[in-house]
Amino acid sequence: MLLLLILQIISFSLFPLYFTMLHGPSRRTHFYVYIAILLLIGGFMGNVYSLPLAEGIVISGGNLCYGAFMMTAVMFVWAERDAFILRHLVRLVVLVDLFNISFSYLTQTILKSDKAINTHGVPSALFEISTPLIALGGVLIILELLLLLFIFEIIKRKNVVPVWAAALYITSFAFVLVLDGIAFPLIAFGINSQIVTLVFGGLGGKIVMALAFSVPLAVFILWRRQAFVDYLEAETVRWRLLASSSTDLIREMTIKDQDLYRGDIVFRNSTEGLAIVDKSGFPLKANKAFRDMLELDKELVNEEKLDVRDFIALGDSTAFFPRTPSEHWRHEVTVGGRMKRPGILSITPAGKDFKGDETYVYSLIDIAEQKSTQVQLEYLASHDHLTGLPNRRALDKTLAGLQSSPHSLIMIDLDRFGDVNDSYGHDVGDHVLQAIATRLDQIRVSQLQPQDQLCRIGGDEFAFLLHTTDKSLLERALADIRASLDSTIEINDSLHVLVTATIGVSSSLQSRPQDIFRQADAALYEAKRFRRGSVSTYEERLTLESQQRTRLAVRLKDAIANDRLEVHYQPQFDATTHELCGAEALVRWTDPEIGIVSPADFIPIAEETGLIEAIGAFVLERTCSDGREWLRAGYRGITLSVNVSASQLRSGRFISTLDQMLKKTGFPAESLCIEITESTYLERENEVIPLLSELRNLGLGIAIDDFGTKYSSLSYLVEIPCTSIKIDRSFVSRIPNDIKQADLTSAIVKLATIMSFKVVVEGVETKAQLDFVTAEGCDMVQGFYFAGALAKSDFVERLQRAS
Ligand code: C2E
Ligand code: MG
Ligand code: MG
Repeated sequence: MLLLLILQIISFSLFPLYFTMLHGPSRRTHFYVYIAILLLIGGFMGNVYSLPLAEGIVISGGNLCYGAFMMTAVMFVWAERDAFILRHLVRLVVLVDLFNISFSYLTQTILKSDKAINTHGVPSALFEISTPLIALGGVLIILELLLLLFIFEIIKRKNVVPVWAAALYITSFAFVLVLDGIAFPLIAFGINSQIVTLVFGGLGGKIVMALAFSVPLAVFILWRRQAFVDYLEAETVRWRLLASSSTDLIREMTIKDQDLYRGDIVFRNSTEGLAIVDKSGFPLKANKAFRDMLELDKELVNEEKLDVRDFIALGDSTAFFPRTPSEHWRHEVTVGGRMKRPGILSITPAGKDFKGDETYVYSLIDIAEQKSTQVQLEYLASHDHLTGLPNRRALDKTLAGLQSSPHSLIMIDLDRFGDVNDSYGHDVGDHVLQAIATRLDQIRVSQLQPQDQLCRIGGDEFAFLLHTTDKSLLERALADIRASLDSTIEINDSLHVLVTATIGVSSSLQSRPQDIFRQADAALYEAKRFRRGSVSTYEERLTLESQQRTRLAVRLKDAIANDRLEVHYQPQFDATTHELCGAEALVRWTDPEIGIVSPADFIPIAEETGLIEAIGAFVLERTCSDGREWLRAGYRGITLSVNVSASQLRSGRFISTLDQMLKKTGFPAESLCIEITESTYLERENEVIPLLSELRNLGLGIAIDDFGTKYSSLSYLVEIPCTSIKIDRSFVSRIPNDIKQADLTSAIVKLATIMSFKVVVEGVETKAQLDFVTAEGCDMVQGFYFAGALAKSDFVERLQRAS
């Protein structure tokens, strides 16, 4: 008998268990048909079939069908993840019940009729009893189903772990089934002692049946555990829908189906790798993108021991899982078989699985493309596109990352590189820079350490960062650098360019890496000041000087703004007659805090900072207006000389400013002479010659100042449109004792006279010097022997005395 019961339970359970594997409408149809059959059979079998298992344990056919119905209905609800379908179940129960009732009633009526053929002699009383019982059974089934669902919902809302939820569900299922066994006879036959004894006497059979049908439910939970977990996580039952119209229900179900369908489509087709992973790293579900990114093949995904974390590498020691289940975890990772593919992995807790362990949603974004773009962008941001060398930004980064280890910086500035661009065009300029970069890089590769760096830090500036302070190594590097620039750069057959460089070196054991750049720059500045093409090494004093320069620049700006500059005049005399014939305008600055500052100190700063334009304009205007004033006062035949810096001359505005001044003040151009130094002319010959010619056309005199200090060649004098040369005071200072100097001075005077230049000698301090230069035939003299630079009032006094 027990075997028979087991066989029946199995046959009743196999179908619904199989149906849970189906999907969508097909699953529902199978369930509905099956439930209808159970109800139909149950309606009749309850009366004609019973299974005596043991003494006092009898299982009736009706009970068996009822148990199978309840078990199937519960399984259906779980598989569908919604009590929604209960509405149809209820309708189905009502329909089948109505059919059973009418069939039973019909049978009962037929049996009572005389003409009925009743070969087995079935008594009509049997149907008289069963008809109301069928009706009652139907009502109870519906109520019990609702009760069971209600209990499920309460358990679900308590958020108990799935294992406990499963246990509670099965217990309540068995409880309701046993409850039916008690309630049904009591309601059907009334409460009296006889019935109560009968009911409790037959309780054993009901319990066995309830337990027997709990088994398939347990099998479902174990076998289809994810479906059960999904059911637990699904929305709680919408009670109002049980009473709403079919159209509403259908709409709601369609939406729900669509949502599920879409969700599934999104999951499957997402380009983002998605997986639901359990605590041990096993992917309960993973989409194609996830499998592809991790390079997991299908067989591997089905392997029980698979741990997806073995295919994900974290860049640092960060732990994989969130510390608390509610925490969201996001990290850059590398994934795949060789852990080469970069990605962003987010792990979000996704509730507990069947065993009560936490599960997680792994979402993986492939950032290989972004990474390569990022690498490219980083490369572009840190490299110079022309030469391919690291740029200033890269050098700063390296310097910032240097600890206080020994290091040296060699800063290389190409001399007069602007001329290459101006003369031959930017294409040639680029070519030259590339050629130099290649030559310097060869030094880095062949002579230096791998960690040493060569950068292009500006238009025509390169820098070597060496991880050493060793003097001999540095000297060798410097020699190599200079040697690399020795040979010309061949642009084409007819054009070869030779470039020299000025170099600043900073080398330190103690100084902070961020200071080394500033120090090398100060050394470079010093080298440039000394001589183009020279090398200077940083010393402490350069920082002080650099700070002083900065301070001086600020004060100078302030002085210009507050009209604190003055113009003094140093008288110039005819070398033979010693008559006053002119004056050199010299700017004077007395700062309220610093005191008197020599133009030799502040003019270079003004040139660097661009303040020279304002100073130049001021001196020019003051000189012209003073000159005009003196002319009006009747002091004729006086030429006033004004010093003009190279940067001032090249600013592009000089000639128009000068023209304006002359017009504004009415000072005749013929009475004005501008002094430029040799280097102003020689460094930008092509640019300066047209400018000077224009000035000459205006009628101005042009004097080459400090003549003889920079270049010993006189050949350029042939081309230069100047009117006079001013022999530098360094020539005169050792005259007449220094015979060589004396010979040189007389040679210069002679040559200049031949070339029809006027010769002015400056720095005449003694009578002997005066006599010597007068004898040599120079035209004008200027110096402390006569007078230094005088304030305007003192100079006017001199003018008065002279007239
Ligand atoms: P410089 O143009 O060669 O000016 C002559 C310098 O020699 C002046 O120095 C002057 O005071 C000084 N000096 C004159 N006679 C003697 C002498 O007998 N012995 C000695 N030892 N020195 C003498 P200062 O005024 O200090 O000017 C220095 C330089 O500053 C000038 O050299 C000039 O290059 C520049 N400078 C002065 N004023 C201006 C200006 O207004 N504009 C520009 N661009 N530069 C100026
Ligand atoms: Mg001068
Ligand atoms: Mg001079």
